[in-house]
Amino acid sequence: MQLSKAEIIRHLEDEEHQQELFQKADAIRHQYVGDEVHLRGLIEFSNICRNQCLYCGIRCGNTKLLRYRMLEDELIETARKAAVLGFKTVVMQSGEDTYYTQVRLCRVIEAIKKFNVAVTLSIGERDYADYKAFKEAGADRYLMRIETTDKKLYHKLNPKMSWQHRYECLLALKELHYELGSGIMVGLPEQSIESIADDLLFLKKLPVDMAGIGPFIPHPDTPLAHQQGGKLDLSLRTMALMRLLLPDINIPATTAMESLHPQGRIMALKAGANVVMPNVTEGEYRRLYELYPGKICINDTPQQCRNCLSVKIKMLGRTIGTGYGGHHKIAKFPE
Ligand code: SAH
Repeated sequence: MQLSKAEIIRHLEDEEHQQELFQKADAIRHQYVGDEVHLRGLIEFSNICRNQCLYCGIRCGNTKLLRYRMLEDELIETARKAAVLGFKTVVMQSGEDTYYTQVRLCRVIEAIKKFNVAVTLSIGERDYADYKAFKEAGADRYLMRIETTDKKLYHKLNPKMSWQHRYECLLALKELHYELGSGIMVGLPEQSIESIADDLLFLKKLPVDMAGIGPFIPHPDTPLAHQQGGKLDLSLRTMALMRLLLPDINIPATTAMESLHPQGRIMALKAGANVVMPNVTEGEYRRLYELYPGKICINDTPQQCRNCLSVKIKMLGRTIGTGYGGHHKIAKFPE
């Protein structure tokens, strides 16, 4: 669907009629991608990061955090268990940890592909040659949020990083035929409604195959500790508008939404989302991968998370996706 920037802004600001927006996004979700909810097993394999993103709890400047890294065998074993639990996709996420060189990661990807799962990487900015090698090793998808398209804000929040470089990484991933996921945080300090509208139009233009939209949640051990943080309702309206703009893409009900409200992911699934990414990281690592505080399910096992979500999805009258759940492209949208 085409929406002008002015129309997007109007919807983003319209708290009063948000239920109508959510219902419309839900109907479009049903029409274009059906009632299956695709589950991705999220492996948080290292919280070691060279970056200084002001919002993020695992930024290298946070000296209070105990750091960990799964080694190759442990990472592969975690993925194997996720496959045994029934996950058809594993998402490997980490800080920008230079230990994981091209050679090491390719070994891991090749091993995990033997479990018959789709592999998604979410490890930040790398060289073109790395992206190419990962693809050749079998990686299917890549998630990297642009975070915000307000370049001035981006550079304030991500010292030493370049918006243009991150954008070029997204273009490179596209050129290499990854299924591409990107997205933003909602409620960053100084982020305007207008810039959120720009973000949505940016994601439509790329276009992404998957869009992750979640509220910014201030972390106490970061420079943004005392900022306000994003609101769930505005995040849901942003997500619902994404569904209107790109009707057939995958949209996750993000964990950050549930951290703000115990029903956050259910609300998202009823407002345009069709994917959930339960954590399959085990034990102490779950707590240590603390991007933001109040992260849910840190004491649960992967099996418990899967069971709990299965019940919630069934209660919504939806089913768990049985396939790989890739982007189900519709050739032409009726506008
Ligand atoms: N290093 C990888 C993975 C980053 S963590 C990369 O650069 O892509 C995954 C996402 O968590 C980030 O892209 C960001 O959007 C989100 N995130 C980080 N800190 C957050 C916070 N304080 N509140 C909400 N989301 C946060």
